[in-house]
Amino acid sequence: MIQIHDKFFKPYLSESEIFQAVKTVADKIAVDYKDETPIFVGVLNGSFMFVSDLMKAYQHPCEVSFVRLSSYQGLTSTGIVETLLDVPENIEGRSVIILEDIIDTGRTLQKLVHLFSKTKVKEFKIASLFYKPDVYRGEYVIDYFGLAIPDNFIVGYGLDYKEQGRNLKEVYQLNQKHMINLVLFGKPGAGKGTQAEFLKEKYNLKHISTGDVFRFNIKNGTELGTLAKSYIDKGELVPDEVTIKMLQEEVEKNADADGFIFDGFPRTAAQAEALDNFLESKDMGINATIALEANDEILIDRLLERGKVSGRTDDQDVAKIRNRFDEYNAKTTPVKEFYEAQNKFHSVNGIGTIAEITERLTEVIEGLK
Ligand code: AMP
Repeated sequence: MIQIHDKFFKPYLSESEIFQAVKTVADKIAVDYKDETPIFVGVLNGSFMFVSDLMKAYQHPCEVSFVRLSSYQGLTSTGIVETLLDVPENIEGRSVIILEDIIDTGRTLQKLVHLFSKTKVKEFKIASLFYKPDVYRGEYVIDYFGLAIPDNFIVGYGLDYKEQGRNLKEVYQLNQKHMINLVLFGKPGAGKGTQAEFLKEKYNLKHISTGDVFRFNIKNGTELGTLAKSYIDKGELVPDEVTIKMLQEEVEKNADADGFIFDGFPRTAAQAEALDNFLESKDMGINATIALEANDEILIDRLLERGKVSGRTDDQDVAKIRNRFDEYNAKTTPVKEFYEAQNKFHSVNGIGTIAEITERLTEVIEGLK
C-alpha cells in the first residue's frame, strides 16, 4: 500500500502487465500502419510513459509529437478547443494516431476528436492504453486500446492523483476500504439535507442529494430538468431509470471522494438494488442506512416553514406534501426492509435541536468503525 497526499492506493497492474497492454496496442497499430509512416501524437501530461514505451514496442517507420489541452479543456464560443501545445504543423495529409493514457467518460476524447476533425489530416485514429467501458459515454468508437479496466481510480505510469504518482512504474488503484458510504433515510422534511451538511464536513464526504441535482437541472433548463419537473410538481417520484442513471453519473464525477452521503436516494427497492450492484462494481458498498424519524404533523409544519423561505412549490401545498408522504409509504418503506435484511439499518430520533440530532447520527457512525 502507498500513500499519495491524503489517500491510500494498492497495487493493481505490474510492470509486465502494463508492458503487455502497451505491446497489444503497438501490435494492433502495426497491422494497419506498418507500410506507412504514421505520426503518433501523445496527449500530455498523462501519456508520456505510454508514448515512450509504445515507441520502443513499435519498430516500424513513424514520427512522434505531442499535444496538450488546457486544463479546462472547454470549447470556446467560437468552437475552438483551447490548447496549450497545439497540434503539430506537419500533419496535413498524414495518418495520425492519437495516444491517450486512459479513456474514461470520454470528455477529453470528445475535445480531441473535435480538434483533429478541424485539421487536414488524411485520417486520425485513437489509441488508449487503458479504457473504462463501464463509464465511457462517448459516441466515438475507440480504435485501439491495450486493456479494458473497471471504473476504479488509478495512478502511476503517467497517471496522477493531484499531480503526484506519475513516476510510479506500476499502476495502483484507490483503496476503497477506507470509505464511509451512508444513506440518509427519512420522509421529506426529516432533516436529511441539514444533517448531511454537518456530516460531510466532519467525515470529509461528498453529499449527493438527488432532489438537489434535479432542482439544479430544472434551474438550468436541461432536458433532465424538464422531465423531472413534471413529476416533482405533482409530488410524485421521478422514474427509477432516470434517477439511477443520474445518481451513477454523480458518483462517477467524484471518483476520488472519501465516501458519499446519499440523501433522497434510494427511494424505491429497485433503486436500492441498483445502488448495491453499482457500488459493488466499484469495489465499494453501503456501510449504513440511518433513518431520521419524526411524525407526519411535525414534518408538515417543517416543510411549510421551509417552503416560505426556499420558494420550493412542492413545500407550499399540504396536498402535495401528503402525496409525497403517500409515495414514501408506498414505495420507499420497502427500502427499509432491504437494508434491515443486510443488518445495515439504523434509526435515530429526528426531533430535537440540529446539534442533538447530529450527535445521535455521529454515535451511529462511530459505532461502524
Ligand atoms: P427531495 O428534495 O429529496 O425532497 O426531492 C424532491 C423531489 O425530487 C421528490 O419529490 C421527487 O419528485 C424527486 N426525487 C428526488 N429523489 C428521488 C429519487 N431517488 N427517486 C425518484 N424521485 C426523486
